[in-house]
Amino acid sequence: LQQKTIKNEKMEIVSHLAASISHEVRNPLTSIIGFLQLILEQRDVPDKCKIYASLALDEASRTAVIIDDYLTFANPHPEKLHALEIDKEILQCRDLISPLALKHSVDMKIVFFHTDKIKGEPHKFRQALLNICKNSIEAMPTGGTLTIVTATKYNETFIHITDTGQGMSPAHLARLGEPYFSLKEQKGTGLGMMVVFRIVEGMGGNIKVNSEEQIGTSITLSFPSFA
Ligand code: ADP
Ligand code: MG
Repeated sequence: LQQKTIKNEKMEIVSHLAASISHEVRNPLTSIIGFLQLILEQRDVPDKCKIYASLALDEASRTAVIIDDYLTFANPHPEKLHALEIDKEILQCRDLISPLALKHSVDMKIVFFHTDKIKGEPHKFRQALLNICKNSIEAMPTGGTLTIVTATKYNETFIHITDTGQGMSPAHLARLGEPYFSLKEQKGTGLGMMVVFRIVEGMGGNIKVNSEEQIGTSITLSFPSFA
């Protein structure tokens, strides 16, 4: 029992640390990226300096992406399990992701059927939704449709997230969620889906992924309803 308490305390310290990093590092990082972009826009900067600035910008942007996949919703307070209203969480995720959707000409369609509440930590659940939706939008570089449907059936609550993107080959699909597995080269971290699998598992939920190359990907999350 004592060991368990120590483990819980350690976990709490880790999540507190993670949240501090995201808040304390994300803002200065945004300034660094902004100033590097300004340097690159100057006319009288020697070519060599532009190369250095552009390398620095790539690295800084990569750091920002890693922080986003892990820590967009990191919360410095101890974890609290809530009865989550899925529809509300999805609308929040939509608001956050709509600039990215617009940039990729992606239409978002959301259909809510009546759903039960589920049990989870809201910040983590939002992070999982966000990471899935981000992948879907990134898989549709020339536009498409992202559809989210929620429903409850026999005390099980489902969230279907479907895109009309590039899809994955069976070999790639098998590696989804493996740390550092990414086909996005410089732009990907390969951490987004690992985080999703961990969060959903921690909530006692399930993930099913169907994907067909050039057709799209469909992810179904299911959770026990929380009475
Ligand atoms: P990242 O997005 O940083 O590459 P993820 O763990 O989020 O890492 O995703 C891993 C890989 O799985 C992606 O690089 C991509 O190739 C593939 N993938 C994930 N979601 C989708 C999707 N909806 N459509 C097509 N490919 C996807
Ligand atoms: Mg991703």
